Amino acid sequence: MMQLTVIPGDGIGQEIMTQVLRVLKHVNAPFEYEEHAAGESALITHQSLLPQTTVDSINKTKLAIKGPTTTPVGGGHKSINVTMRQKFDLYANVRPVRSLPGVQCVCSDVNLTIVRENTEDLYAGIERMVDDDTAESIKRITRKGSERIARYAYELAQKTGRSQVAIVHKANIMKMSDGLFLKVAQEVGAKYPNIATRDVIVDNACMQLVTRPQQFDVIVTENLYGDILSDLCAGLVGGLGVVPGANIGEKAAIFEAVHGSAPDIAGQNKANPTALLQSAVMMLQHVNEQTKADAIMKALIAALSDVNARTGDLGGKGTTVSFTDAIIQKL
Ligand code: NAD
Repeated sequence: MMQLTVIPGDGIGQEIMTQVLRVLKHVNAPFEYEEHAAGESALITHQSLLPQTTVDSINKTKLAIKGPTTTPVGGGHKSINVTMRQKFDLYANVRPVRSLPGVQCVCSDVNLTIVRENTEDLYAGIERMVDDDTAESIKRITRKGSERIARYAYELAQKTGRSQVAIVHKANIMKMSDGLFLKVAQEVGAKYPNIATRDVIVDNACMQLVTRPQQFDVIVTENLYGDILSDLCAGLVGGLGVVPGANIGEKAAIFEAVHGSAPDIAGQNKANPTALLQSAVMMLQHVNEQTKADAIMKALIAALSDVNARTGDLGGKGTTVSFTDAIIQKL
């Protein structure tokens, strides 16, 4: 058995996590679960956004599944996600985006993976007020950071039988920072002769993704572009409720959905557990439990194709709980 840190998080977090754990337990996933708090809910129970007990647990288990946590806009505390990514050096944010049968979407044949650098760029948190009317944020890109994320993307492409990596950047304008990212990623790409490399300027990448997403296989990009592109891609395949993610480093791996804490629907049994469940599937793949991962994916796809079972965000009549019941019935 493997120890797994479970962090329900804020808003819809607890509701969807409870359902995902039901599914994992139903397939006898080989985990011993340790539940810990993070986010605004932890502030109430532990007087800390990221309690030391949670950090200690992840340091020990090296594996976590996390619900979304709330971050106030414009002021207040720093994002817990950003803090965790930096604390555990989770440098690779992996977001597979694919059309699911039965889910109404803009494009029915999308199957790409965004590999987003997770620790640098404008998210490094180097910001200052120059004076009352001027603020600055520093965009930090390093050779080390660019090299390891590019290597991760090419290794992933190789392992999963993909034929192309697209490096997305804005090196025509930010010649030094994005220029360094592009140059280093191309150097890494040259070591993988079986995988085609192309580079795409980020604004063009947005247009290409909307008009012809099928041309993309693996996308490797900087932190901010990756954040924006993955929401754009989520929109292509049915919305934020269906896209999973993983934050991976050498010391730990944390699996979480792309979506946030959805305060507008929290506590109403409306949230779609699909994204977090697919994150759990990625986690099973990460620990080499491919058979269980495949079984859950098959049951999820079968449940999604039943229009009555789906949750409201996908045009169905189902609730968080009843949709999970439908998945479990298919297992
Ligand atoms: P959001 O993703 O929470 O919600 C955007 C819209 O999508 C809302 O209408 C919401 O109801 C819907 N939605 C999201 N997830 C859904 C699901 N599983 N099922 C059905 N509908 C779903 O984005 P937001 O409103 O911009 O952010 C809310 C909070 O979440 C903010 O505090 C933000 O900082 C935080 N956030 C956290 C994470 C994370 O922890 N990984 C990621 C993004 C945003």
